[in-house]
Amino acid sequence: MATPAEARVDLAAIRHNVALLKERAGGAELMGAVKADAYGHGLVPTSEAVLEGGASRLGTAFVREALALREGGVTAPVLAWLITPGEPIDEALRADIELSAADVRLLDEIAEAARRTGRTAKLHLEADTGMSRGGSPLAGWPGLLARALELRAEGVIEIAGLWSHFACADIPGHPSIGRQLEAYETALKLAEQAGAAGSHVIRHISNSAAIVTLPDARYDLVRPGIAMYGLSPVPELGDFGLRQAMTLVARIGLAKRVTAGSGVSYGHLYTTERETTLGLVPLGYADGILRHATGRAEVLAGGRRRLIAGRVCMDQFMIDMDDDPLSAGDEVVLFGPGDGGEPTAQEWADNLGTITHEIVTRIGARVPRIYQR
Ligand SMILES: *Cc1c(COP(=O)(O)O)cnc(C)c1O
Repeated sequence: MATPAEARVDLAAIRHNVALLKERAGGAELMGAVKADAYGHGLVPTSEAVLEGGASRLGTAFVREALALREGGVTAPVLAWLITPGEPIDEALRADIELSAADVRLLDEIAEAARRTGRTAKLHLEADTGMSRGGSPLAGWPGLLARALELRAEGVIEIAGLWSHFACADIPGHPSIGRQLEAYETALKLAEQAGAAGSHVIRHISNSAAIVTLPDARYDLVRPGIAMYGLSPVPELGDFGLRQAMTLVARIGLAKRVTAGSGVSYGHLYTTERETTLGLVPLGYADGILRHATGRAEVLAGGRRRLIAGRVCMDQFMIDMDDDPLSAGDEVVLFGPGDGGEPTAQEWADNLGTITHEIVTRIGARVPRIYQR
Protein backbone atom coordinates (compact mmCIF):
# COMPACT_ATOMS: atom_id res chain seq x y z
CA MET A 1 0.00 0.00 0.00
CA ALA A 2 1.69 3.18 -1.20
CA THR A 3 -0.90 5.52 0.25
CA PRO A 4 -1.93 6.21 3.85
CA ALA A 5 -5.30 4.58 3.25
CA GLU A 6 -7.25 2.88 0.50
CA ALA A 7 -10.66 1.41 -0.26
CA ARG A 8 -10.27 -2.04 -1.77
CA VAL A 9 -13.15 -2.97 -4.04
CA ASP A 10 -13.77 -6.63 -4.77
CA LEU A 11 -15.23 -6.60 -8.27
CA ALA A 12 -15.90 -10.36 -8.15
CA ALA A 13 -18.18 -9.70 -5.16
CA ILE A 14 -20.06 -7.08 -7.18
CA ARG A 15 -20.51 -9.48 -10.10
CA HIS A 16 -21.69 -12.17 -7.66
CA ASN A 17 -24.21 -9.81 -6.02
CA VAL A 18 -25.61 -8.59 -9.34
CA ALA A 19 -25.99 -12.16 -10.61
CA LEU A 20 -27.76 -13.12 -7.40
CA LEU A 21 -30.15 -10.14 -7.67
CA LYS A 22 -30.81 -10.91 -11.33
CA GLU A 23 -31.83 -14.40 -10.32
CA ARG A 24 -34.11 -13.04 -7.59
CA ALA A 25 -35.65 -10.65 -10.11
CA GLY A 26 -36.97 -13.56 -12.17
CA GLY A 27 -37.17 -12.49 -15.79
CA ALA A 28 -36.98 -8.76 -15.12
CA GLU A 29 -34.19 -6.63 -16.54
CA LEU A 30 -31.73 -5.11 -14.08
CA MET A 31 -30.68 -1.45 -14.00
CA GLY A 32 -27.73 -0.98 -11.62
CA ALA A 33 -27.91 2.23 -9.58
CA VAL A 34 -24.38 3.69 -9.84
CA LYS A 35 -25.09 7.22 -8.64
CA ALA A 36 -22.71 8.90 -6.18
CA ASP A 37 -19.62 7.33 -7.75
CA ALA A 38 -21.21 3.89 -7.63
CA TYR A 39 -21.98 4.35 -3.93
CA GLY A 40 -18.38 5.38 -3.34
CA HIS A 41 -16.90 2.32 -5.07
CA GLY A 42 -15.67 4.19 -8.18
CA LEU A 43 -17.96 4.84 -11.12
CA VAL A 44 -16.47 3.24 -14.20
CA PRO A 45 -14.71 0.07 -12.95
CA THR A 46 -17.68 -0.71 -10.72
CA SER A 47 -20.19 -0.10 -13.52
CA GLU A 48 -18.28 -2.45 -15.77
CA ALA A 49 -18.50 -5.17 -13.11
CA VAL A 50 -22.23 -4.44 -12.66
CA LEU A 51 -22.77 -4.98 -16.40
CA GLU A 52 -20.62 -8.14 -16.37
CA GLY A 53 -22.73 -9.45 -13.50
CA GLY A 54 -25.89 -9.27 -15.61
CA ALA A 55 -27.23 -5.71 -15.52
CA SER A 56 -28.42 -4.51 -18.92
CA ARG A 57 -28.75 -0.85 -17.90
CA LEU A 58 -27.32 1.68 -15.47
CA GLY A 59 -29.03 4.45 -13.54
CA THR A 60 -27.60 7.68 -12.13
CA ALA A 61 -29.13 10.60 -10.32
CA PHE A 62 -27.56 13.46 -12.27
CA VAL A 63 -26.84 14.03 -15.96
CA ARG A 64 -23.20 14.74 -15.16
CA GLU A 65 -22.82 11.27 -13.64
CA ALA A 66 -24.31 9.71 -16.76
CA LEU A 67 -21.96 11.73 -18.96
CA ALA A 68 -19.01 10.53 -16.86
CA LEU A 69 -20.04 6.96 -17.70
CA ARG A 70 -19.93 7.79 -21.41
CA GLU A 71 -16.55 9.51 -20.99
CA GLY A 72 -15.37 6.33 -19.30
CA GLY A 73 -16.35 4.33 -22.37
CA VAL A 74 -19.53 2.75 -21.02
CA THR A 75 -22.01 2.26 -23.89
CA ALA A 76 -24.87 0.47 -22.09
CA PRO A 77 -28.23 2.28 -21.78
CA VAL A 78 -28.10 4.85 -18.98
CA LEU A 79 -30.98 6.67 -17.28
CA ALA A 80 -30.48 9.90 -15.30
CA TRP A 81 -33.47 10.44 -13.02
CA LEU A 82 -32.86 13.69 -11.17
CA ILE A 83 -32.91 16.58 -13.62
CA THR A 84 -32.76 20.20 -12.50
CA PRO A 85 -33.38 23.22 -14.77
CA GLY A 86 -30.29 24.28 -16.69
CA GLU A 87 -28.55 20.91 -16.67
CA PRO A 88 -26.70 19.92 -19.89
CA ILE A 89 -29.62 18.20 -21.58
CA ASP A 90 -28.27 18.76 -25.11
CA GLU A 91 -25.13 16.91 -24.13
CA ALA A 92 -27.17 14.16 -22.52
CA LEU A 93 -29.18 13.62 -25.71
CA ARG A 94 -26.04 13.58 -27.87
CA ALA A 95 -24.60 10.95 -25.50
CA ASP A 96 -27.79 8.87 -25.80
CA ILE A 97 -28.67 9.22 -22.13
CA GLU A 98 -32.26 8.50 -21.17
CA LEU A 99 -33.92 11.06 -18.93
CA SER A 100 -36.69 11.07 -16.37
CA ALA A 101 -39.37 13.73 -16.27
CA ALA A 102 -42.10 14.40 -13.75
CA ASP A 103 -43.57 17.71 -14.89
CA VAL A 104 -44.58 19.48 -18.07
CA ARG A 105 -41.97 22.19 -17.57
CA LEU A 106 -39.14 19.67 -17.77
CA LEU A 107 -40.82 17.82 -20.65
CA ASP A 108 -40.83 21.08 -22.60
CA GLU A 109 -37.20 21.83 -21.71
CA ILE A 110 -36.18 18.37 -22.92
CA ALA A 111 -38.28 18.75 -26.09
CA GLU A 112 -36.47 22.04 -26.85
CA ALA A 113 -33.13 20.29 -26.46
CA ALA A 114 -34.35 17.49 -28.74
CA ARG A 115 -35.34 20.00 -31.43
CA ARG A 116 -31.97 21.77 -31.12
CA THR A 117 -29.90 18.62 -31.32
CA GLY A 118 -32.07 16.63 -33.71
CA ARG A 119 -32.04 13.73 -31.21
CA THR A 120 -35.17 11.97 -30.02
CA ALA A 121 -35.24 12.08 -26.21
CA LYS A 122 -35.92 8.72 -24.54
CA LEU A 123 -37.99 9.54 -21.49
CA HIS A 124 -39.06 7.70 -18.39
CA LEU A 125 -42.09 9.39 -16.84
CA GLU A 126 -42.03 9.28 -13.06
CA ALA A 127 -45.20 8.95 -11.00
CA ASP A 128 -45.29 9.93 -7.33
CA THR A 129 -47.18 6.97 -5.92
CA GLY A 130 -46.83 8.03 -2.29
CA MET A 131 -43.24 8.90 -1.43
CA SER A 132 -43.82 12.62 -2.02
CA ARG A 133 -40.27 13.11 -3.30
CA GLY A 134 -39.72 13.01 -7.08
CA GLY A 135 -42.47 12.14 -9.51
CA SER A 136 -45.71 13.61 -10.71
CA PRO A 137 -48.60 13.49 -8.25
CA LEU A 138 -51.40 11.38 -9.70
CA ALA A 139 -53.52 14.51 -10.10
CA GLY A 140 -51.00 15.86 -12.61
CA TRP A 141 -50.29 12.51 -14.27
CA PRO A 142 -52.96 12.71 -17.04
CA GLY A 143 -51.67 16.18 -18.02
CA LEU A 144 -48.09 14.92 -18.09
CA LEU A 145 -49.12 11.96 -20.26
CA ALA A 146 -51.07 14.21 -22.64
CA ARG A 147 -48.09 16.54 -23.15
CA ALA A 148 -45.74 13.57 -23.59
CA LEU A 149 -48.03 12.15 -26.26
CA GLU A 150 -48.09 15.47 -28.14
CA LEU A 151 -44.30 15.60 -28.08
CA ARG A 152 -44.12 11.97 -29.15
CA ALA A 153 -46.41 12.74 -32.10
CA GLU A 154 -44.05 15.57 -33.01
CA GLY A 155 -41.22 13.02 -33.01
CA VAL A 156 -39.07 14.77 -30.41
CA ILE A 157 -39.54 12.29 -27.59
CA GLU A 158 -40.07 8.60 -27.14
CA ILE A 159 -41.77 7.23 -24.01
CA ALA A 160 -39.29 4.59 -22.85
CA GLY A 161 -40.48 3.97 -19.31
CA LEU A 162 -43.10 4.58 -16.62
CA TRP A 163 -41.68 4.39 -13.13
CA SER A 164 -41.95 5.15 -9.46
CA HIS A 165 -40.06 4.61 -6.18
CA PHE A 166 -40.99 3.09 -2.80
CA ALA A 167 -40.73 5.06 0.46
CA CYS A 168 -40.78 2.07 2.84
CA ALA A 169 -39.74 -1.07 0.95
CA ASP A 170 -37.15 -1.72 3.68
CA ILE A 171 -39.91 -1.92 6.32
CA PRO A 172 -41.64 -5.20 5.43
CA GLY A 173 -45.39 -4.97 5.98
CA HIS A 174 -45.49 -1.17 6.06
CA PRO A 175 -49.01 -0.10 5.03
CA SER A 176 -47.69 2.41 2.48
CA ILE A 177 -46.29 -0.40 0.31
CA GLY A 178 -49.66 -1.74 -0.77
CA ARG A 179 -50.98 1.77 -1.27
CA GLN A 180 -48.01 2.68 -3.46
CA LEU A 181 -48.47 -0.45 -5.57
CA GLU A 182 -52.14 0.39 -6.03
CA ALA A 183 -51.30 3.96 -7.03
CA TYR A 184 -48.65 2.65 -9.45
CA GLU A 185 -51.22 0.33 -11.02
CA THR A 186 -53.55 3.30 -11.42
CA ALA A 187 -50.79 5.34 -13.06
CA LEU A 188 -50.04 2.46 -15.45
CA LYS A 189 -53.74 2.04 -16.29
CA LEU A 190 -54.07 5.75 -17.07
CA ALA A 191 -50.99 5.55 -19.29
CA GLU A 192 -52.43 2.53 -21.06
CA GLN A 193 -55.77 4.25 -21.65
CA ALA A 194 -53.96 7.32 -22.99
CA GLY A 195 -51.89 5.18 -25.36
CA ALA A 196 -48.60 5.86 -23.54
CA ALA A 197 -47.94 2.26 -22.45
CA GLY A 198 -47.10 -0.84 -24.49
CA SER A 199 -44.57 -3.62 -24.74
CA HIS A 200 -41.70 -1.25 -25.56
CA VAL A 201 -42.43 0.93 -22.49
CA ILE A 202 -40.70 -0.51 -19.42
CA ARG A 203 -42.27 -0.36 -15.98
CA HIS A 204 -40.05 -0.16 -12.89
CA ILE A 205 -40.50 0.58 -9.20
CA SER A 206 -38.25 -1.79 -7.18
CA ASN A 207 -35.07 -0.79 -5.34
CA SER A 208 -32.91 -3.36 -3.52
CA ALA A 209 -35.27 -3.74 -0.56
CA ALA A 210 -38.26 -4.31 -2.85
CA ILE A 211 -36.35 -6.91 -4.87
CA VAL A 212 -35.81 -9.06 -1.77
CA THR A 213 -39.18 -8.50 -0.10
CA LEU A 214 -41.73 -7.83 -2.87
CA PRO A 215 -41.49 -10.35 -5.69
CA ASP A 216 -44.79 -9.04 -7.11
CA ALA A 217 -43.29 -5.61 -7.71
CA ARG A 218 -40.62 -6.57 -10.24
CA TYR A 219 -42.53 -5.54 -13.36
CA ASP A 220 -40.17 -5.25 -16.36
CA LEU A 221 -37.07 -4.00 -14.61
CA VAL A 222 -35.57 -3.66 -11.11
CA ARG A 223 -33.19 -0.93 -9.91
CA PRO A 224 -30.91 -2.26 -7.17
CA GLY A 225 -28.26 -0.08 -5.60
CA ILE A 226 -27.04 -0.99 -2.12
CA ALA A 227 -27.46 -4.76 -2.56
CA MET A 228 -25.10 -4.80 -5.57
CA TYR A 229 -22.38 -3.54 -3.25
CA GLY A 230 -23.04 -6.47 -0.95
CA LEU A 231 -24.85 -4.58 1.78
CA SER A 232 -28.18 -5.86 3.01
CA PRO A 233 -31.17 -3.70 2.05
CA VAL A 234 -33.13 -5.13 5.01
CA PRO A 235 -30.50 -5.99 7.66
CA GLU A 236 -33.10 -7.45 10.06
CA LEU A 237 -33.78 -10.17 7.48
CA GLY A 238 -30.13 -11.18 7.01
CA ASP A 239 -27.58 -10.79 4.23
CA PHE A 240 -29.43 -12.66 1.45
CA GLY A 241 -26.11 -14.24 0.39
CA LEU A 242 -24.64 -10.87 -0.61
CA ARG A 243 -20.89 -10.22 -0.22
CA GLN A 244 -19.65 -6.81 0.93
CA ALA A 245 -17.40 -5.45 -1.84
CA MET A 246 -15.57 -2.62 -0.06
CA THR A 247 -12.78 -2.98 2.50
CA LEU A 248 -11.42 0.25 3.96
CA VAL A 249 -7.86 0.03 5.25
CA ALA A 250 -5.25 2.47 6.52
CA ARG A 251 -1.68 2.20 7.75
CA ILE A 252 -0.70 3.40 11.18
CA GLY A 253 1.12 6.70 10.66
CA LEU A 254 2.70 6.94 14.10
CA ALA A 255 2.86 4.65 17.12
CA LYS A 256 4.06 6.00 20.45
CA ARG A 257 4.16 5.24 24.15
CA VAL A 258 2.31 7.68 26.38
CA THR A 259 1.89 7.79 30.13
CA ALA A 260 -1.25 7.03 32.12
CA GLY A 261 -3.63 9.98 32.26
CA SER A 262 -2.82 11.32 28.78
CA GLY A 263 -5.75 13.20 27.25
CA VAL A 264 -6.17 12.13 23.61
CA SER A 265 -7.20 14.33 20.64
CA TYR A 266 -9.41 17.46 20.60
CA GLY A 267 -11.40 18.02 23.74
CA HIS A 268 -9.63 15.20 25.58
CA LEU A 269 -12.71 12.99 25.30
CA TYR A 270 -10.49 9.94 25.91
CA THR A 271 -7.86 9.62 28.62
CA THR A 272 -5.43 6.72 28.87
CA GLU A 273 -5.91 4.63 32.00
CA ARG A 274 -2.34 3.43 32.11
CA GLU A 275 0.88 3.65 30.16
CA THR A 276 0.01 2.49 26.66
CA THR A 277 0.82 2.70 22.94
CA LEU A 278 -1.33 5.02 20.86
CA GLY A 279 -1.67 4.57 17.10
CA LEU A 280 -2.47 7.36 14.65
CA VAL A 281 -4.81 6.31 11.82
CA PRO A 282 -4.58 8.69 8.82
CA LEU A 283 -8.29 8.95 7.96
CA GLY A 284 -10.66 11.60 9.25
CA TYR A 285 -14.01 13.22 8.76
CA ALA A 286 -12.82 14.77 5.48
CA ASP A 287 -12.50 11.18 4.26
CA GLY A 288 -15.96 10.16 5.47
CA ILE A 289 -15.07 8.89 8.94
CA LEU A 290 -17.88 10.78 10.63
CA ARG A 291 -16.90 12.90 13.65
CA HIS A 292 -19.88 11.19 15.23
CA ALA A 293 -17.79 7.95 15.15
CA THR A 294 -15.78 9.34 18.09
CA GLY A 295 -15.87 6.67 20.79
CA ARG A 296 -18.48 4.66 18.85
CA ALA A 297 -16.92 2.83 15.92
CA GLU A 298 -14.35 0.06 16.05
CA VAL A 299 -11.44 -0.91 13.81
CA LEU A 300 -9.35 -4.07 13.57
CA ALA A 301 -5.64 -3.67 14.35
CA GLY A 302 -3.22 -6.43 15.26
CA GLY A 303 -6.02 -8.99 15.31
CA ARG A 304 -8.09 -7.09 17.88
CA ARG A 305 -11.03 -4.73 17.72
CA ARG A 306 -10.31 -1.26 19.10
CA LEU A 307 -12.65 1.62 19.66
CA ILE A 308 -11.73 4.98 18.13
CA ALA A 309 -10.00 6.78 21.02
CA GLY A 310 -11.07 10.41 21.32
CA ARG A 311 -12.30 12.81 18.67
CA VAL A 312 -12.13 11.97 15.01
CA CYS A 313 -10.21 14.88 13.41
CA MET A 314 -10.30 16.10 9.81
CA ASP A 315 -7.46 13.86 8.61
CA GLN A 316 -6.80 11.39 11.43
CA PHE A 317 -7.95 9.64 14.56
CA MET A 318 -6.23 7.69 17.34
CA ILE A 319 -6.58 4.17 18.66
CA ASP A 320 -5.34 2.75 21.95
CA MET A 321 -3.16 -0.29 21.19
CA ASP A 322 -2.29 -1.24 24.80
CA ASP A 323 1.00 -3.11 24.88
CA ASP A 324 0.41 -4.90 21.59
CA PRO A 325 3.40 -4.97 19.25
CA LEU A 326 2.00 -2.65 16.62
CA SER A 327 4.07 -0.04 14.86
CA ALA A 328 3.93 2.63 12.18
CA GLY A 329 3.17 1.08 8.80
CA ASP A 330 0.99 -1.72 10.18
CA GLU A 331 -2.42 -2.13 8.61
CA VAL A 332 -5.69 -1.18 10.29
CA VAL A 333 -8.98 -2.39 8.81
CA LEU A 334 -11.89 -0.03 9.40
CA PHE A 335 -14.48 -2.23 7.76
CA GLY A 336 -14.72 -5.12 5.34
CA PRO A 337 -16.80 -8.24 4.71
CA GLY A 338 -15.99 -9.45 8.22
CA ASP A 339 -14.05 -12.59 7.26
CA GLY A 340 -10.93 -11.53 9.15
CA GLY A 341 -12.75 -10.35 12.26
CA GLU A 342 -12.97 -6.75 11.05
CA PRO A 343 -16.18 -4.76 11.56
CA THR A 344 -18.59 -4.74 8.63
CA ALA A 345 -20.08 -1.61 7.07
CA GLN A 346 -23.35 -2.73 8.70
CA GLU A 347 -21.72 -2.60 12.13
CA TRP A 348 -20.45 0.91 11.40
CA ALA A 349 -23.94 1.94 10.32
CA ASP A 350 -25.49 0.42 13.44
CA ASN A 351 -22.93 2.04 15.75
CA LEU A 352 -23.49 5.44 14.12
CA GLY A 353 -27.27 5.22 13.88
CA THR A 354 -27.31 5.37 10.08
CA ILE A 355 -27.57 3.10 7.03
CA THR A 356 -24.73 1.49 5.08
CA HIS A 357 -25.53 3.70 2.07
CA GLU A 358 -24.16 6.65 4.07
CA ILE A 359 -21.09 4.77 5.31
CA VAL A 360 -19.81 3.82 1.85
CA THR A 361 -20.88 6.89 -0.15
CA ARG A 362 -19.10 9.24 2.25
CA ILE A 363 -15.63 7.79 1.69
CA GLY A 364 -13.86 10.80 0.23
CA ALA A 365 -11.90 11.52 -2.92
CA ARG A 366 -8.56 11.44 -1.06
CA VAL A 367 -8.93 7.70 -0.56
CA PRO A 368 -7.88 5.80 -3.68
CA ARG A 369 -10.07 2.92 -4.81
CA ILE A 370 -8.03 -0.18 -5.53
CA TYR A 371 -9.72 -2.84 -7.63
CA GLN A 372 -9.36 -6.51 -6.95
CA ARG A 373 -10.36 -8.36 -10.10
C1 LIG B 1 -30.86 5.12 -5.19
C2 LIG B 1 -32.01 4.65 -5.97
C3 LIG B 1 -32.21 3.29 -6.22
C4 LIG B 1 -31.41 2.21 -5.54
O1 LIG B 1 -31.77 2.19 -4.18
P1 LIG B 1 -31.17 1.10 -3.15
O2 LIG B 1 -31.95 1.30 -1.92
O3 LIG B 1 -29.75 1.46 -2.95
O4 LIG B 1 -31.35 -0.20 -3.79
C5 LIG B 1 -33.22 2.94 -7.07
N1 LIG B 1 -33.99 3.87 -7.65
C6 LIG B 1 -33.85 5.19 -7.42
C7 LIG B 1 -34.73 6.16 -8.08
C8 LIG B 1 -32.86 5.63 -6.56
O5 LIG B 1 -32.73 6.93 -6.31
